[in-house]
Amino acid sequence: MTAVLTGKDSTSVVPESKKLVRVFKWEVSELTLPKLLFYEDAYMREARARVVDVRGREVFLDQTIFFAEAGGQEGDRGWINDIEVLEVRPSDYAHVLSREPSFSPGDEVILRLNWERRYRLMRLHSATHLVCIAVREILRTDVIGSHVGVEHARVDVAFAGSIKPHLPQISEFVNDLVRQNLPIEIFWRGETRIWRLKEWEIPCCGLHVRRTSEIGEITLKRRNIGRGKERIVIYVRP
Ligand SMILES: [Zn+2]
Repeated sequence: MTAVLTGKDSTSVVPESKKLVRVFKWEVSELTLPKLLFYEDAYMREARARVVDVRGREVFLDQTIFFAEAGGQEGDRGWINDIEVLEVRPSDYAHVLSREPSFSPGDEVILRLNWERRYRLMRLHSATHLVCIAVREILRTDVIGSHVGVEHARVDVAFAGSIKPHLPQISEFVNDLVRQNLPIEIFWRGETRIWRLKEWEIPCCGLHVRRTSEIGEITLKRRNIGRGKERIVIYVRP
């Protein structure tokens, strides 16, 4: 969805989440940072762009639909003029291709996302936020880390003992939000990009589905990762 600029200060922020979600900061100088089209529309699968620079297999663009890994969400894959994009480097926003391209600076190219992969990342990222809310509401504890991959996502929480007895309740909580088909809003408050569902807000630089029903059924598994730390592994359907 299009980012809505608003200075409105409303509803409660989930303060714990601020620790885990590093708000959008790719360490890219403004000179090489392309226009990030996914912030205008996360559902854009194809776009045209102008080549700014080519260094071997590395391509720099004036605008892009490729998300570079940030805030725990893995980066995108896809194709530029049918050459595979192997990586989008967060440090300088280079699109690293599978081979040297024949195009040059100034040329127009066609960008195509591996949409299947990206849409899974969006669904899993939104699912992760629902789990963060459940952790806050049910376990009343801090989320200390998270990661959104293609196969699954995970949320780490500070918790003494096992969360296993609480897992059915957490699962019911998140799947109930999915069934309600609630709208997910994204907007900026000053420099901070905010994700909002009902009264819950989480600062986030990642990409999300528009409504909770798109996530589909969520399955949770528990792992113990050390004393006082528990991990919730998050799965969605294919
Ligand atoms: Zn997030």
